[in-house]
Amino acid sequence: MADMDQRSRFPKTCPNSGCSDPFPHGALNMQAEFDHIFSKRDKLLSDPRHDPRKLEKINQDICSHIKHENDIRRLDKLRSMRGWPVSFDFDDIVNRTLSLKQQLADLILSDYDLHNCVVWDDFLESIDYKIHKFGALKEPYDHEYAVLRARCGYLGPEGAFLIHSTILRIFHHTLLSLPKFLTNTIQLLIDERPQDFDSPHPDSTRRPWYILPIDTFIRFVLVPHVAVYLISQDMGVSYTEAIDIKDDSAEYGEMFHWNDKSPRITSIDKANFVAAQDDFPFPDLSSLRNKVASPTNPLPAKTLSPKRSKKTVNKLPASPMEEVVVTLEDFPPRNSKTKTKTKTGEEPASRISKMTKPEKEKKEKSAPKENPIRIQLFDFVFSSLRTKLFRALHM
Ligand SMILES: [Zn+2]
Repeated sequence: MADMDQRSRFPKTCPNSGCSDPFPHGALNMQAEFDHIFSKRDKLLSDPRHDPRKLEKINQDICSHIKHENDIRRLDKLRSMRGWPVSFDFDDIVNRTLSLKQQLADLILSDYDLHNCVVWDDFLESIDYKIHKFGALKEPYDHEYAVLRARCGYLGPEGAFLIHSTILRIFHHTLLSLPKFLTNTIQLLIDERPQDFDSPHPDSTRRPWYILPIDTFIRFVLVPHVAVYLISQDMGVSYTEAIDIKDDSAEYGEMFHWNDKSPRITSIDKANFVAAQDDFPFPDLSSLRNKVASPTNPLPAKTLSPKRSKKTVNKLPASPMEEVVVTLEDFPPRNSKTKTKTKTGEEPASRISKMTKPEKEKKEKSAPKENPIRIQLFDFVFSSLRTKLFRALHM
């Protein structure tokens, strides 16, 4: 049958009851899918005793396909109006992410750098500053606001997956040590403004020793942070403008670059893993060991654990791969200092003094033995979102 005849069997409006959306004009992005559904429908209708419930189901399916077709057209038009790239070079994303490695390490190791990261602020806003609660979640990817904020704009789940894979490559040899440093960094920020944050669980045996699992931090902060950088480079705009583009183009990315399980992406992910074996351990944590803030004052009342009675000093693991059992109490606060956000400012004195404080005494391991470091490599953060999207579209 000729194409014109095929086309003519599509109705003028959506056949779903209660819906009067016009059938999309012109060439269809989803031609094959529409052909398939209408064939099913024709076949059903050819039987005079067909089940009306089956027809209703097919009509609903057609309705969701029409909506999907319209979404594709709307987003493609938006992309062309905004000038977002149609496609991107996957290897280039890996290479550009690699080039940001020092900056990524700084976000984990330096409260000053993290404090000045706008994506970090966005993340905190998305979880309403309930960082202890969020960090203890078994399924952080069910947190809709946080997941929405962490999307990577037009790079979509494909770009996000590549960035994440490359970050795991960068920190391959130090990933087990980083949670302790990250917890320290976040604790310093909390100590600055404890009133902004929720309190840790009062029962120290029931709260995780970390504030945020490292993988959660990578997915919700580092990955979107890299995406913003890449977008700012692509589009020749500032970091802050790139954040707006990231949010504006996220739906487009979800629609057009969703296939993070494609063979090409899987092979790059494997290549990243192989390359990581030969990389030197990064960052060099030896210079930071035993230099993390030592306690000089008690915890603020709000975060004070009733069990904490003596001074503790961070004893960081001797080897990057060594697993240790630590608790939040390993990260006592330092003196509170007010920070000013400066994008290009020099390092504040507080950071320097923090980094040069000598170790004063050995940490007594009186902490609860639960919750050893365990890096959980969750299935990709956006897959749940994408599943929801496609379920909605194909109901
Ligand atoms: Zn409809």
